[in-house]
Amino acid sequence: MTDPSDRRLLLVHAHPDDETINNGATMAKYAAEGASVTLVTCTLGEEGEVIPPELAHLAADRDDTLGTHRIGELAAAMQALGVTDHRFLGGPGRFRDSGMMGLPTNDREGAFWHTDVDTAAPYLVEIVRSVRPQVLVTYDPDGGYGHPDHIQAHRVAMRAVDLAADPDYRADLGPAHTVAKVYWNRVPRSAAEEGFARLRASGAQFPGVADVADLPGVVEDDVITAAVDGGPYTGHKTAAMRAHATQIAVDGPFFALSNDLGQPLFATEYYELVRGTAGAPPGERESDLFAGLSWTDA
Ligand SMILES: [Zn+2]
Repeated sequence: MTDPSDRRLLLVHAHPDDETINNGATMAKYAAEGASVTLVTCTLGEEGEVIPPELAHLAADRDDTLGTHRIGELAAAMQALGVTDHRFLGGPGRFRDSGMMGLPTNDREGAFWHTDVDTAAPYLVEIVRSVRPQVLVTYDPDGGYGHPDHIQAHRVAMRAVDLAADPDYRADLGPAHTVAKVYWNRVPRSAAEEGFARLRASGAQFPGVADVADLPGVVEDDVITAAVDGGPYTGHKTAAMRAHATQIAVDGPFFALSNDLGQPLFATEYYELVRGTAGAPPGERESDLFAGLSWTDA
């Protein structure tokens, strides 16, 4: 596949900000190269904690208007990344943020976690069949770190990939489409350790420093099959992180979430190929998520 404009990448995420933290540099790179980049966000992130004190009133236990506010943050982040196709699964507000695992908000009507996978998946099948991506990116089965909406986003994405390819499933949602390659977001342990060493040596001012164990998706290095060098797009990623101001505090090449713990911002983003054929020789990492695809995959 040599014509960048024929490349179509679809990312499935749980909340506004997850796309930027996990894939911001990758999204900016492919958008800049002329590929089609589509982001699907499953909830508005209504249950998030709010960092800036002057916006604390938006929180779910006060005005409960954080979701609407985060629609604007996400739009600004997409502008920073150069991504123009962004959608909420089922439309904005169809599925609500479930909150952290074990909270009563998990079980409330309309919560994403409380929704059957097969109720949510058709909305994504329709997008897969209309966008027709060769590459789909989502979380691993643990959602990276066990958040119910991340686990559910993984389940819905994997289910939708299967259903979209089945010509006997819901012809009303468009002609069947097989996604050639599916990747899960990952972080190699060595990169996480190196990032924290850099953070500790930097003197960056955070109330605390996170630990490798706090990072989602950390795995042993040999699990990683692809590394996308987003170095030239670090500025785009940083700007998009700043756009998610209720959720992320940025300090140079580091950032903190609402737990105030500093963590490194990765310009290289890492993936594990779980469906499809790698475009790199055995034992080597792909540097391009579209590597090895042929015209017949388009
Ligand atoms: Zn999230």
